[in-house]
Amino acid sequence: MKSDVYFIRINSKDAEVRLEGFKKLLHKLAPSFVFEENEFIPVKLTIGDSACVYNLNPVFLKALVLELKNKRAKPFLFDTCVIYSGERQNAVDHLNLAQSKGFGHSRVEAPFIIADGLFGQDGREYVLNEDLIKAIKVPSFIGMLNSLVVCSHVTGHIVSGFAAGIKNVAMGMSSRATKQVQHSSLKPSIIKNKCTGCGCCVVVCPVKAITLKDDKSVIDQDTCIGCGECISACKSCAVYINWHEDPLIFCKRMNTVANFILSKFKQKLFFNFAFDITKGCDCESDKNAKMIFDNCGIFFSTDVLSLDKATSDVISDYGKISHPQKAVHEEMFKHAAQIGLGNLEYNLIQI
Ligand code: SF4
Ligand code: SF4
Repeated sequence: MKSDVYFIRINSKDAEVRLEGFKKLLHKLAPSFVFEENEFIPVKLTIGDSACVYNLNPVFLKALVLELKNKRAKPFLFDTCVIYSGERQNAVDHLNLAQSKGFGHSRVEAPFIIADGLFGQDGREYVLNEDLIKAIKVPSFIGMLNSLVVCSHVTGHIVSGFAAGIKNVAMGMSSRATKQVQHSSLKPSIIKNKCTGCGCCVVVCPVKAITLKDDKSVIDQDTCIGCGECISACKSCAVYINWHEDPLIFCKRMNTVANFILSKFKQKLFFNFAFDITKGCDCESDKNAKMIFDNCGIFFSTDVLSLDKATSDVISDYGKISHPQKAVHEEMFKHAAQIGLGNLEYNLIQI
């Protein structure tokens, strides 16, 4: 079975041209979007870290918000706290950054919400009991709302080689502990010279693996279950995150988490914006970031796997530079199809 993927080709660097293209795509698609009156519509996006300048342009979000409001729905933008240090590690800094990068209410005409609370610990836990993921914690509105819109800036990625819709859902719609579990099965440890001995990690550890010794916390590696809660709890960035992981296992975990999250929504609308495609994702790129593909355009589908596969295929054809780590994310797509995340085959419909 094939899913439809809509694509508007735009290779311009001009923000106005890009916006006009997006409006044209929205105009074509909007009749198929059906919402209840006053239905809350969560719009997932990433504003990028403070140094990132190639993240989604807020003008796209404003155009989308107005289209959703035309349909008498109530859109809101949301993201979650990241696991590494920076201005998106807690809700206050994250919201201040969103404001300064043009994602404030007055610019986008919808509120921006940090969906996993002040420190990325809030949410609802689900037991998955899958081989690679036993349990996850996600924002509590997941399971309460019918529709979801996901807007993703297409980038390269240090592990998977490619990041778009699936990664935006799997990482961006889970709590910090679940982000940690996807990144690594290796257990965290303590950076002693950063530890203030506040004891917050001791309180949250579900298996009492952490004790304070000489005002420094210590993790008993035999007891630790790698849940990542201590990472969220530590305000001093003293819990070391082990980033090393087999790339395919990392990708399979993301597929598993995304599959579960998306199963909780009836109507799912995904946009991939393939502009300014940097080698690293928006968490780590800056104004000097290397572009790995030409500007390409905007993709839409109700099937996140078809969308990401089509995006990957088209940017590979369209760009002049060979695709990095293509084998890894091709395997990721195959696994996604096996677990029912979507269709690997698609009809590409050019607008
Ligand atoms: S929360 Fe951080 S600073 Fe506080 S005791 Fe634990 S590791 Fe140390
Ligand atoms: S990862 Fe979880 S189980 Fe391990 S020390 Fe941290 S809070 Fe405790």
